[in-house]
Amino acid sequence: MKKQRLVILGGGESGVGTAILGKQKGFEVFVSDFGSIKEKYKKVLIHNELDWEEGGHTEAKILDADVVMKSPGIPDNAPIVQKLTDNGVKVISEIEFAAQFTKATLIGITGSNGKTTTASLTYALLKDELNVALGGNIGKSFAEQVSEEKYENFVLELSSFQLDGIETFAPHIAVLTNLSPDHLDRYDYKYEKYIASKFRITENQTEDDYFIYDADDSEINKWLQNHEIKAKKLPFSLQNEVKQGAYIKNKEIILTIDNTQHTMPIAQLGLQGQHNTKNAMAATTIATLLKIRKATIRESLEGFQGVEHRLEKVLKINNVMYINDSKATNVNATFYALDSVKTPTVWIVGGVDKGNDYTELLPLVNEKVKAIICLGVDNEKIKRAFGNIVDLIVETAGMQEAVKVAYKVAERNDTVLLSPCCASFDLFENYEDRGRQFKEAVRHL
Ligand code: ADP
Repeated sequence: MKKQRLVILGGGESGVGTAILGKQKGFEVFVSDFGSIKEKYKKVLIHNELDWEEGGHTEAKILDADVVMKSPGIPDNAPIVQKLTDNGVKVISEIEFAAQFTKATLIGITGSNGKTTTASLTYALLKDELNVALGGNIGKSFAEQVSEEKYENFVLELSSFQLDGIETFAPHIAVLTNLSPDHLDRYDYKYEKYIASKFRITENQTEDDYFIYDADDSEINKWLQNHEIKAKKLPFSLQNEVKQGAYIKNKEIILTIDNTQHTMPIAQLGLQGQHNTKNAMAATTIATLLKIRKATIRESLEGFQGVEHRLEKVLKINNVMYINDSKATNVNATFYALDSVKTPTVWIVGGVDKGNDYTELLPLVNEKVKAIICLGVDNEKIKRAFGNIVDLIVETAGMQEAVKVAYKVAERNDTVLLSPCCASFDLFENYEDRGRQFKEAVRHL
């Protein structure tokens, strides 16, 4: 029988993982990248004797595909994708492709903010008692890990782009951490389209599955009022008591699933801040559904120290705490960062603005921020938004300078917070590079 032809657009983590899995499952595989493929991925492609190209798409080798996996970074309106869809070729995402080759229990975590933190925390809660892997947008691709055929459970961090390319993908447990406008350039600048994309995580779930979500999020509630979902709903809330799911009473998380109840004092959580309490409620709900022992959950919640670049405590110098929240690339993430800091704050902010509306931050900035250090090529919008409420605003053009200025301005018991609210591409390679430069500059003070 003729082999099915699998074409993969994009030779990054998910593309190369899909290529490995596709070959193993008997597909004739071709990887095509319009840009250049990183050396480490080229080595893997060569080692696995896969056919690939970079620097363009050879249409003759692509348009005859039986199925195409499009990497999440490629938009639907890329010419090659349009041609494929016009020709009736199925274009799917890595998770859709890989999920059909595993019987493992799938836990999918999506949302505008908190995906990585919640997925990593969930993995920490499960790993001592279950055979589980962490994948999706974190670390090794889901597809490659499916090809290893050794995991019974997967915790998957899922972006909306991964969800856009699904047809049958159905996680047994789905989480929607929250919604705030992001990546709207990929959704015709329509927030409703982005929201619909996030909710696709529930579309193939059945009555035997679960949907865990932030019940304090007005957009999520609005959507749920107008749409039916089949999965059992388990909300979490900081504000209201819920009968099933998690809420807060007397500074404790109370989780109820059927007749079991579980409590955990917030003060004992390894990760502090309201947003992290929500992440902990979501992760605890998952662990409880999967029958992890209460003592294990408790110990893991206490011990979890967070993920790099997310409210990461770097050092205390002269009684000033330096915090790296470089991953905060939108207003909502920075809102929670400022909310979680309890001292006067020197705030390092700026970069590439994705259409930010800073209004939501004004009360917190007014209350806590004593100085703003702008770190971006164009800082006009920040100066306009906060000029009236913060006495000291300094513009800098590099991380070392920003950290040095922060060091001079900060006094004992203050916090220096890098939470940029913006993308990093004007001055840095990516948010990781920005966070690392921050930590290095702090360590050299
Ligand atoms: P994502 O993977 O969705 O980008 P991360 O866990 O990497 O989320 O966190 C991104 C940013 O959002 C960080 O600045 C982090 O402190 C903040 N954050 C984490 N959890 C939440 C949450 N539940 N709500 C809002 N912001 C959050």
